[in-house]
Amino acid sequence: MFRKVLIANRGEIAIRIMRALREMDIRSVAVFSEADRSAHHVHMADEAYLIGASESSKSYLDVERVIDAATKSGADAIHPGYGFLAENAGFARTCKEAGLVFIGPPPEAIETMGNKTAARKMMLAAGVPVIPGYDEPLASEEAALSVARSLGYPVLLKAVAGGGGKGMRVVREDSEVPAALRATRGEALSAFGSTEIYMEKYITEPRHVEIQILADHHGRVVHLGERECSIQRRYQKLIEESPSVAVDPDLRNRMGQTAVRAAQAARYCNAGTVEFILGADGNFHFLEMNTRLQVEHPVTEMVTGVDLVKEQIRISAGEHLSIHQGDIQPRGWSIECRIYAEDPANGFMPSIGTVEWLRNPEGPGVRVESGIIPGSEVSLYYDPLISKLVVWGKDREEALNRMSRALDEYVVAGIRTTAPFHRWVMDHPRFRSGDFHTGFIDECYSSEEALALGEEFREAAVIAAVLAYRDNQYPKREAPPRGPVSGWKFAGRYQIRSQRTGRL
Ligand code: ADP
Ligand code: ADP
Ligand code: MG
Repeated sequence: MFRKVLIANRGEIAIRIMRALREMDIRSVAVFSEADRSAHHVHMADEAYLIGASESSKSYLDVERVIDAATKSGADAIHPGYGFLAENAGFARTCKEAGLVFIGPPPEAIETMGNKTAARKMMLAAGVPVIPGYDEPLASEEAALSVARSLGYPVLLKAVAGGGGKGMRVVREDSEVPAALRATRGEALSAFGSTEIYMEKYITEPRHVEIQILADHHGRVVHLGERECSIQRRYQKLIEESPSVAVDPDLRNRMGQTAVRAAQAARYCNAGTVEFILGADGNFHFLEMNTRLQVEHPVTEMVTGVDLVKEQIRISAGEHLSIHQGDIQPRGWSIECRIYAEDPANGFMPSIGTVEWLRNPEGPGVRVESGIIPGSEVSLYYDPLISKLVVWGKDREEALNRMSRALDEYVVAGIRTTAPFHRWVMDHPRFRSGDFHTGFIDECYSSEEALALGEEFREAAVIAAVLAYRDNQYPKREAPPRGPVSGWKFAGRYQIRSQRTGRL
């Protein structure tokens, strides 16, 4: 087993990985940028190395500096987390050349799956159902028009190198094709450095259902059931759950076996996720494979009892998978809300600043994966995901009620977050009924709903001011002073924003 592992990441995921390492008695090494000098992940590690300027390109994405820190620290392996270098095949190769184990799949699998048309071709050859589409980059407007007509509108233009929901555009008729193609190419070039665009049939009102797999170096591949990720905004997940209301044991079996077949076709090793589109007709189609630990991996951990990060580490150390397919029986229900530093009352605009005050939810069935502490700076340099709130319940209803309760307890002052939005979703009749698809937010979250959240923010600001005042007045008191209504009750009911911003 490894003695020391470097984590080439920051924020909540770096801390998640460190916790697994500590439980395995492996030392952890953090890397950090100038902006992250006092970041929480730096405090949590056994050792930490400054690797460069605040811009990711000069620190977390700088392969040479990351490898250099690993070598200096004497680490045996590198865990890339998600984002940054996690899906960079060149980085995986460089690790190997430097004598370091890359905790992730083989570079060949990263390469194939990172190219969406190559992945589709491989899956077609393996007999995996794939969304109808055209598997070559579109050479011209004319080519795009003729492919669109043969697939039938609506169609979806997608960047071959895409990821993170970027480089995608729905096209509904001939006249929209030229402008949409130009815009998508531009976006793909700036996000992925490639102008290659291909086309898929746009499936209307689908669900996003994905399967977690684990594969070791000795030929065993198991799946750990599904995650429902249909609550999305701009093709990016906001809420995930496991299991999915749309998946019964028979469908779980079929999707699971298909995911295992996909992994075998790719000669996959380590943890991976096979994403599917589940149509309203009950048919599922391969969307893409993510060759890394997923943001939403905790919901699978909560219902299966498998620690995916530890499994990744064991697999990379050459150990046999300890689990058999038959051992995996999902139990209960888990939901995750992604807490972003964004203002849901104002078009999900990024919200930056200092975390002035923080209270994390606690209690039965609650798991907080957080990258922030009081005093943390949230900047525009990095992904706005500041934490994930995960709950477990014996069934979906208990999980939903628990998530509502935990969101009520959650207080972040100083920046706005998506927590109030999640609270709104938890009460929404369509979400509660389970009858929703990827269009839920577009259809249900109107500007009036956003305005109402804005009102809550304003009320919360008043409460934050009261709390901050009381904290200053009674710094050493054990319990808050009693008034007609407990301040904690109010604090728990609303997202607090800082009095500093002065907008009462
Ligand atoms: P998940 O599929 O695990 O839900 P996301 O799509 O939300 O993950 O992506 C996780 C992180 O990785 C985000 O920070 C996202 O911006 C980043 N990311 C994903 N794919 C890419 C990519 N191809 N290039 C750059 N960043 C990416
Ligand atoms: P990324 O690499 O950015 O995660 P995906 O191919 O996984 O891109 O797609 C992201 C999301 O976009 C999906 O979860 C789904 O909501 C939507 N989507 C992608 N392809 C289609 C499609 N052909 N039809 C309908 N929705 C799609
Ligand atoms: Mg995806």
